Amino acid sequence: MLLNMIAGLRQYLFIIVLTITGVVIISTSIYSIRVAHHVADMHAPMVDAAMEIRLELAFAQLYLEEFISGGKSITKRDVASHLKQAQWYAHAMLSGGQNSEGTFIPLEDNVLRSEITVAIEKITQIDLLFQALSSDIAKAGQGSEMDRVFEEKFQIALEKADDVENTLLVMIVKDRSRQKVTDLVGLILSIAIFIAAGIYFVARQRLELKLISQLKELATHDELTGIANRRSFNSTLSNEWNHALRAQGYLSLVICDIDLFKQYNDALGHQAGDECLRSVAEVMRTVLQRPVDSVARYGGEEFAFILPFTDVDGAVNLMDKLHDKLRMKKLPHPDSKVSDYVTISAGIASLMPGQESSIEEFISTADGALYRAKDEGRNRTCYYVLS
Ligand code: GH3
Ligand code: MG
Ligand code: MG
Repeated sequence: MLLNMIAGLRQYLFIIVLTITGVVIISTSIYSIRVAHHVADMHAPMVDAAMEIRLELAFAQLYLEEFISGGKSITKRDVASHLKQAQWYAHAMLSGGQNSEGTFIPLEDNVLRSEITVAIEKITQIDLLFQALSSDIAKAGQGSEMDRVFEEKFQIALEKADDVENTLLVMIVKDRSRQKVTDLVGLILSIAIFIAAGIYFVARQRLELKLISQLKELATHDELTGIANRRSFNSTLSNEWNHALRAQGYLSLVICDIDLFKQYNDALGHQAGDECLRSVAEVMRTVLQRPVDSVARYGGEEFAFILPFTDVDGAVNLMDKLHDKLRMKKLPHPDSKVSDYVTISAGIASLMPGQESSIEEFISTADGALYRAKDEGRNRTCYYVLS
């Protein structure tokens, strides 16, 4: 019961493994595509935004210095607008936004978010200070205390903007390597699934071929002796008959029967009888001379040879060999009146098939020859040649 269940499960195991692997492959592919989109949609504008923060800060500082030095071409608004732009890009990285350069999706990475928050804080400090002191700045002059304070604050804000940019680049590299790993896993799994499917189909194919050949063997061979069975004999005889008819060649049929086999069974038992049948069949197999010759188990202790393109002399010759080999085999028969050993009687029918002859007549002629051999004392071969 348990074994049956395990066998049943084993049958489905491959399908289960295949399904799981398929789901994993699809999931990793979807994840990989998502990461790729993430990289494309998010990283490119973010890198731009991080650079813009630094750029706008640099412009703001440059303009402020010019403003402090009393440059007439620079207004308060020029400095303020660059500070606002730097703040806008920093906020866009944090909360999202859109401008002519693209759409900014809010960053999810917590480390990066806290760095951007710090950068915003520093830029806002500069902005507030600038707004508070803007009326005095123009008179302060280069190298003044105010100039020094702003320089220090810009330096800090620029450092923070650098941190944001560096952390963003590290995050991009990490995302890309994560994508490479998922791509690799997907690739390995795909290869594995193809190999597994290949092995499975080859194994199945082999098993099917093996089963087919086993079925063929069962359908055409006698289980006890391993030689061809009666069904196989019938089809071979029909084929060879037609072959001989077409080619106008001789065909010989021999029906052999173990002598006094009932006594053999009675004396030694049915199992020994089976063993004897196997041994006799083996000897018969060894006397076959050509690939087209065949021997089959015709009935209980009866065997039949089909000898294509063989006339009666050839068939008699083959039977003489069989009698000799059996004699040499010396299978003891304790209750035979013919010999101390197992013997056979053989009846041969030979003909060159014509339209007027029939297979039935051919078989009954061989049978008749066998009966004659029995009548004449057994352990011999008799024959009839049909014309
Ligand atoms: P004869 O010389 O006239 O052929 O005498 P016989 O005893 O061989 O012939 P008979 O037809 O009287 O007996 C055949 C015996 O063969 C009877 C049967 O039990 C035995 N036999 C048939 N098939 C098998 C088999 O597969 N195994 C065994 N052990 N015996 C079998
Ligand atoms: Mg018999
Ligand atoms: Mg017999």
